[in-house]
Formats: sequence, C-alpha cells, structure tokens
Amino acid sequence: MAPTAVLSDSTPDNEKQILDGIHAQFELGDDALSSIVNQLLTEFRLGLSEYNHPLAMIPTFVTGVPDGSETGTFLALDLGGTNLRVCEVQLLGDHKFTLRQQKYRVSDALKTGEASALFDYLADSVDAFLTEFVSSPTNAPADPFAASQSAIDSLDPDATTAIPLGLTFSFPVEQTALDEGKILTWTKGFSAKNAVGNDVVKLLQDAFDRKHLHVQCVALVNDTVGALLSRAYTAGGCILGAIFGTGTNGAYVENVEKITKLGNHPARKHGGDMVINCEWGAFNNSKSVLPITPFDQKLDRESINPRLQCFEKFISGMYLGEITRNILLSLIDAVPKPLLFNGRSSSDLNKHYGLDTAIVSEIEVAWEKDRALSCGEKNVDGGDAISNPSSASEPVAVDGDIHHFTEVEKLIPEDQARLERIRTILIQRLNLDAEHVSLRDAAIVRWAASLVANRAAKMSACAVAAILIQTERAELGGGFVPKDEHIVVGVDGSLIEHYPNFNTHLRETLRKLVGEEVEKRVDIGMAKDGSGVGAALCALQAVKQGLL
Ligand code: BGC
Ligand code: MG
Repeated sequence: MAPTAVLSDSTPDNEKQILDGIHAQFELGDDALSSIVNQLLTEFRLGLSEYNHPLAMIPTFVTGVPDGSETGTFLALDLGGTNLRVCEVQLLGDHKFTLRQQKYRVSDALKTGEASALFDYLADSVDAFLTEFVSSPTNAPADPFAASQSAIDSLDPDATTAIPLGLTFSFPVEQTALDEGKILTWTKGFSAKNAVGNDVVKLLQDAFDRKHLHVQCVALVNDTVGALLSRAYTAGGCILGAIFGTGTNGAYVENVEKITKLGNHPARKHGGDMVINCEWGAFNNSKSVLPITPFDQKLDRESINPRLQCFEKFISGMYLGEITRNILLSLIDAVPKPLLFNGRSSSDLNKHYGLDTAIVSEIEVAWEKDRALSCGEKNVDGGDAISNPSSASEPVAVDGDIHHFTEVEKLIPEDQARLERIRTILIQRLNLDAEHVSLRDAAIVRWAASLVANRAAKMSACAVAAILIQTERAELGGGFVPKDEHIVVGVDGSLIEHYPNFNTHLRETLRKLVGEEVEKRVDIGMAKDGSGVGAALCALQAVKQGLL
C-alpha cells in the first residue's frame, strides 16, 4: 500500500501542492508496473540472444542446483558489498553446513585505487584467516556453528595439494568457464583501475602466487548464484537467487535452449539447464520505462557511473538514503517557505551520500516498533526456514495515517511517541539542530523515506515476477493456473533482511502482477550465508570437474 499524502485542511496550499507533487512522482500504478515487467522480459530475451547487451544475462556454466547431499570443506572469499569476507565452509550433506568467517574492511582507497593493490589485500586477508583461524583453531571467533576439528584439518595450509577456494565476486563478469571470467564493469562505488577486461580469477590467483599462498581459486560465482545454490542446498531446490542489499541482482535456472547466444557451445549441446546471472541492476539504462523523478536524476548524474545500473539505483541500499536525502534537501530549500527543519540543514545532511540507508531503515524501525507487534508482521524467515506465504496475503497497514503533518499534536500519544523517536534519530544521527526539528518534520521525513522504499520494493517485485513469467511459471496479470509447484526463491541482502516491510511490499506487488494463485506458491526465504555456501558448492563442482 502506498503512503498517502493526505494533508489536513489546515495545510497551506503551497505545502500541500509540493508534498502531493512529490508523492505523485513516486506512485507506481498498475500500468507502470506492467510496462516494467514487459520491458524486463524484452531485455531478458535480448540479453540471452546476444553478447554485449546492457542486460548481460550471463551464462554461469553452473548446470544444475545442489540437492543438499553435497559434502566437503572449502574456503570462500566474498567481495562485493560493504564487507570483504573470508569463510571456511563445511558442507555436511543432509542440507546442513557449518561456517566460520571473518570480515575485513575494504577502504575507499582500495575500492578506487589500483586493482593489484585490491587483490593483494584479498590475498592478505585469506592469509590472515588461514594463519589465525585455520592453523590455530583455538583462536577461532566464537561461533556456534564453528567447524569441527576434522574440517579444519582438511584445510591444512601445509598440505601438498592446494586448498580449493571459491570466489564470490558480486560484480558483472562475463564468465567463460566455472573458473574464468572477465570483469565487465564495476558497480556499487568500486572503480579500481586496471581490472575491467581482465580475468578476475587470474587477478586473484596471481595475488595468491605473489604471496606464495597454497590456495587455488577453482570457482567464480556471483552472489546471486551463491544465494540460488545455497537456498537449493538447504531447501532441496530453488529457481531464483536474488540480492536486495547494497546492490540488486538475480540469477535463475534457465533452459539452455533459450540461451541462444551460446550458439554451438558444448554446454548447449545436451540440453538441460544453466544458471543465468541476469545483472538486472543494469535494466533499462535508457530509462524508457523507469519512473524517473528529478531526485533520481540528480542521484544518477552525481554518481560515479551515470547512466549505468539505473534499475539498481531505484532499488538498492547504496542509493535509497541518497534519494531520500535529495527529497529532504528540496523540502529544506522549498520556496517561498521551507517545508522542513525551518530551512536548516546539517553538514551531514549536506554531504553526498550523507544519509545512509541504514539511518533511513532505523527511522522506519522506530516508526514500526509498536505497530509491528500489534499487526504480527513477519519479515523474511531466517536460515532455511520456509516463509509462510499466507502471512503476506493479509495486506498489513504499514503506512498508517500520519500525514496530517501540520497537526501532529492531534495524533494519539502512541503515534507522537513514535515520531519523537524519529526526531531523536534525526538529531543524533544527522547532527541536526534540535531546535529546528519538530515532530511534524519527523513525520515528513518518515513519509519521504517510505515513498522511496516502497517504490523500491515494488520494482523488486517486478523483477521477481519477470523471472516467474520467463520460466513459464506465471503470466502477467494472473489468470494462469500453475502446476501444484512449490516455487523456492533464495534472497539475501540488507534490505530484504532488515528493512521493515520490504518483503511485505514486494509480495503485495508480486501478487498483483502474477495473481494470488502463483504468489502463494512462492516461498521467499533467506539464503543465509549464501555467498560463502554458494562459493563452496561451486568449488565442489569445480573439484568434481577436475579443475583443481
Ligand atoms: C552487481 C551484481 C551483484 C549485485 C548484488 C550489483 O551491483 O552488478 O553482480 O549481484 O550488485 O550484490
Ligand atoms: Mg554481499
């Protein structure tokens, strides 16, 4: 349900006009949603038929999904979002695994410097992990799932065969084999030099070799593929892995017949399936169907990759705070009268990317806190638990009725208390001057944040719907009676995991797009530790194929 900008009668006309105007720009009606889905399908097909299409539809050479019986111990390295992670993953079979991991920070200097420095840092992190946690297991971080001694032994850095490592690299890579692929472009604020066009496995292996590490990178996966494989491992099957985090993207199981750009490639000869990494963040870079607003244009123009990753810029955690910031600044600067904070800003709020999506999420949490309890709202389940689709078929009134911005004093005390919490966050996290932050301002900020986040969730639903239609599990507008199939989707990322109601809004729109019959069969569950487990599963595949 979209937030409504219903203003009280006493709201001055000019204010009403401005706020209603912004509201209208963020609305996504049924027709707009349908055109997005149709255009996604068009671009999917183009991407499957030719190389160098912006929607890359990358063949991954992963030709099946695990069934949960796989076993083995592997190292995994995960680069792509906010953190760099090194993990040791032990696949135990029977849909179970243990994992221990260490996170390392990637500084902006590394993200934007020379690629060799970045890859040296990756190698150093693996080295540190092996030294600290693998050779001396007593130093292991406290982890209830810490791997058993036998697993640690089997990753012996002094053994004669190299330790197999799977790399989760969450950027567009034109893969040519399980262990080979050229970096197509950077996204999400990375721009390391002399990387694009090079084989990422080689860049990493060279760094291992420079440091004489006894580790071999045997497989390369995108995080979406990792989510797909890991959810398949824990749930016994999965058709789509999707990330809604710092960036957004999806990978799904496609019939090789439809991947016509593979031509006569041996991988296509025997039929069957192959996982496709869509790279849907780059959908509609021409912006022909994207519901663009001036706030989005400003974000795109000021980004390090203008006119690229346009869909991602509407959806993902790297950008939602920035779009919201753009709205807030326009209200601070409104003429003839400021509509926010008495026209005052703060140096934090003035800064590019100064409003982190995490803060916006905190604001939403503060607003939802007591409400969430009262309506029994359930977010995506953790681990491999099956989410309950029926929890989504009751639309939850998440947007409430706080839009009497000028008359917050008439709100019930509970709602005032919620606005008070938001006000405190604004003052503390953005260093705004308390004197100039009213409860009404808090209500407006929360309204702006929900416009941005709800639009993101709806657009995310378009991508999921498009995959269901592409794989012949649904038709746009419903009316399709599916096989009695349980449709498993694995998801990961900060937004879907933590942003209040993101999943609920996504499901509401999904139901609208593909009908209730299909939507209720869709089981969206967290692919917990998807990047690590997925990389391990791919490394296993590679070892089986003799790549080690
Ligand atoms: C990258 C994808 C990745 C997604 C989610 C995007 O920016 O291009 O490869 O899967 O972020 O991490
Ligand atoms: Mg990640």
